[in-house]
Amino acid sequence: MVNNGVAVGIDLGTTYSCVGVWQHDRVEIIANDQGNRTTPSCVAFTDSERFIGEAAKNQAAFNPANTIFDAKRLIGRKFSDSTVKDDMKFWPFTVVGDSDDRPKIVVNYRGVEKRFLPEELSAMVLCKMKEIAEEYLGKEVKNAVVTVPAHFSDSQRQATKDAARIAGLNVLRILVEPTAAAIAYGLDQKLTSSSSGEKIVLVFDLGGGTFDVSLLNITKNSCKVLATAGDTHLGGEDFDNRLLKYLVEEFSRKHGKDISKSAKSLRRLRNACEKAKRVLSHSAVTTVDIESLYEGIDYHAKISQARFEALNLDLFRSCLDTVEKCLKDAEIDKNNVQEVVLVGGSTRIPKVQQLLQQFFNGKELCKNINPEEAVAYGAAVQAAILSGEGSQNIKNLMVLDVTPQSLGIEVHNDGLMEVIIPRNTTYPISVEQTFCTGYDGQKYVRIGVYEGEMPRVADNNLLGEFELSGLPPAPRGKDEILVTFTIDANGVLIVFAEHKISRLKNSIKIIKGGTLSEEEIEVMVKDAEHLKAEDEEFRKKVKAILAFEDYIQNMKAISQSNCMLEASVKDMLNYYFKEATEWINSNKDAAIYEFKYKTLQLESICNKLIPGSEGMEIEEYE
Ligand code: ADP
Ligand code: MG
Repeated sequence: MVNNGVAVGIDLGTTYSCVGVWQHDRVEIIANDQGNRTTPSCVAFTDSERFIGEAAKNQAAFNPANTIFDAKRLIGRKFSDSTVKDDMKFWPFTVVGDSDDRPKIVVNYRGVEKRFLPEELSAMVLCKMKEIAEEYLGKEVKNAVVTVPAHFSDSQRQATKDAARIAGLNVLRILVEPTAAAIAYGLDQKLTSSSSGEKIVLVFDLGGGTFDVSLLNITKNSCKVLATAGDTHLGGEDFDNRLLKYLVEEFSRKHGKDISKSAKSLRRLRNACEKAKRVLSHSAVTTVDIESLYEGIDYHAKISQARFEALNLDLFRSCLDTVEKCLKDAEIDKNNVQEVVLVGGSTRIPKVQQLLQQFFNGKELCKNINPEEAVAYGAAVQAAILSGEGSQNIKNLMVLDVTPQSLGIEVHNDGLMEVIIPRNTTYPISVEQTFCTGYDGQKYVRIGVYEGEMPRVADNNLLGEFELSGLPPAPRGKDEILVTFTIDANGVLIVFAEHKISRLKNSIKIIKGGTLSEEEIEVMVKDAEHLKAEDEEFRKKVKAILAFEDYIQNMKAISQSNCMLEASVKDMLNYYFKEATEWINSNKDAAIYEFKYKTLQLESICNKLIPGSEGMEIEEYE
């Protein structure tokens, strides 16, 4: 393994992302420029600027159509996918399908319509996480382990990989989130002392908008996902919404007015609800105070933990049904679960912990790593191991994974799915199967490769197709075609087909991948770099304008307070200050050098007219 520098672990979450790095024999979770250790997976576009992370989330209320979140729900999916259609109903931004049935998010950036693939938007978030790490480490970060949910299909994993490449990252491994969390707790390391040599671990991940339960089997040197279950639309945002609904009703009772008529008031109240919810995870009571919330009315409300729990109890309880389902799928008795790991910000809610602990008959839960950081933590450990930076104390855990969906082909043009690798099969693996031709004198066979559980291929996801053509004439059923499915350690599928009788190596390889070609990725990498350069340019310009404005203000103050200056000189100076200010206001689109030139021009005038002003520095903002 070529060791080309530091490697980070990135948890690319639906609502929040987190980055960690192995340093000084331990994992450091890296805070962003706002001091927060998780960053909203959010990107926004305005007339002048692009925002990623905190800044994007903060302006969401004013710019809903161009503030994009939930790219993880779109990545690796087709536009015609029914879940995409369902999710779209709730998004304030526009998604359209392109000619290849890929979803594209439409935004208005600097007055021009732009369309981005979900890969590109996720790349922007990944690029932000890369920058957060680079800022902290003081050097470039090239390598990363990036996590995905255990139920992600191959296309979703590939698309996530593509996103990382667009962000300029080399993906050492795509790791599934529950495995990353188990690694964070070192559950693999503790096994040496365990008598049975294996451990059943349940990972309970309740995040911002999704809920995932996974059962893992960890042995001394491997980790395997036994089963997954979940709810793709359950998480912290639902709890915020319950509180929001309650407060909207309370406002209406108290003031006789309906806040929900104003999107802006609702947004402000929703933000306050999320904050209140977080406080209620460690306090029995909190308040919501918002000045001039609606029609000038200041709003004040007191919320208790008990109230919050009562508003959400059915949702919390439904989590346990999902746990039950996961155990049933894996045919594991809850008493055989040795560790229960808490992951996701919403598992900080005491009631959630209490219900889960009760379900497992009072078992202690693994919660001493911050739940919203556990996945990035484990990814950072894995990144250190793979890049050779890890300490001698952490040994390489062979991460075994299972196929999230069945993989198969359509052979006889009969529309039926012939499963070659069933779902939940551990890989790396290679499986061969032989098929016969369907009719006399068949000259070619079309092999469509699908993933999914439905008996008819039309209801599954087509990953790719190819033909074996030029077969010598033979009666039906005589010719045999050997088909081989191979999945490598990274979950990448390669399909070979070979005509047995003629021995013609007419085999064709399909590498399951994202929907992007190499050329497209190259173009996107360039676009991403261009957008980044534009951001940089914009920031520099804002600094140049600020420096110019500050200089004008300083000189104004100095000239006014200088009693040595003649009134006529002061008038002249005021004229120049006014002119400079007007120039700024009407030339916001000017280039940076023009602002600098104008600043220098004014400086030379001031140097001449105001004695002693030569030494005055023009402040440089960096
Ligand atoms: P993701 O689901 O994107 O992986 P996280 O695991 O970070 O993201 O979960 C984010 C959710 O956790 C948000 O809804 C946030 O409000 C919630 N959350 C964070 N901290 C707390 C807390 N102290 N109490 C309750 N909920 C919290
Ligand atoms: Mg998460």
